[in-house]
Amino acid sequence: MRRAASLEAPPSTTGQPPLASPHRAAGAAEALARIPVITPGRAAGTPVPPETDAQWQALTADVLSCTKCGLHSTRTQGVFGVGNRRAEWLIIGEAPGAEEDRRGEPFVGRAGQLLNAMLAAIGLPREQVFIANVLKSRPPGNRDPKPDEVAACLPYLMRQIALLQPRLMLAVGRIAAQNLLATDTPLGRLRGQVHSFGELNTPLIVTYHPAYLLRTPADKRKAWEDLKFARSTFQRLASQEE
Ligand code: SF4
Repeated sequence: MRRAASLEAPPSTTGQPPLASPHRAAGAAEALARIPVITPGRAAGTPVPPETDAQWQALTADVLSCTKCGLHSTRTQGVFGVGNRRAEWLIIGEAPGAEEDRRGEPFVGRAGQLLNAMLAAIGLPREQVFIANVLKSRPPGNRDPKPDEVAACLPYLMRQIALLQPRLMLAVGRIAAQNLLATDTPLGRLRGQVHSFGELNTPLIVTYHPAYLLRTPADKRKAWEDLKFARSTFQRLASQEE
């Protein structure tokens, strides 16, 4: 299992300000990790049916060869997404950064490590979720995505969602949240509620991007509130379907 190199500033488990001690933090995360959030009815280890697997492979090939917007000419490679194709949680960020562009995987580097720690704190190993971005190619200089780029790329995410059919989506960061919800409402006002996304009306919750939290550690406490809200929402949804 991939682990964050350091939980130097994870969300608090107690509602107190973010923990300063890596040891206390790791212990808290491990304790919470024992809380099951994956329902047995859709085990993450269950194989994907062959026909669905073929659709995933076709979609991956489409993304990696895509030239639908200008970003294809400056990217190193497309970043399709990573994770369990039986996942019940879909984590969605903005777009690949430099390291993601180089490695072909979303949320790597320090922000990725913090995301892993955030997920672990609610009992979700990275391997049990699916992680993707709104944009599959890196905008030069990590600039914000342009509307035409989002419009060109969003159908890929929609196809991912149709295949995955997640029980809950977690949009991390303002750009992802605003583009998915087609709004310019500030992120702070999108937090703390269950939105509905797409034709499947997939429940969607908003929180901060880990890169932002690395720059603004004071907001990790709010992110922890978001994660607890997401976890409780997921458990409520799961119990309703049992
Ligand atoms: S950002 Fe999306 S639409 Fe644009 S080239 Fe990359 S995969 Fe294609």
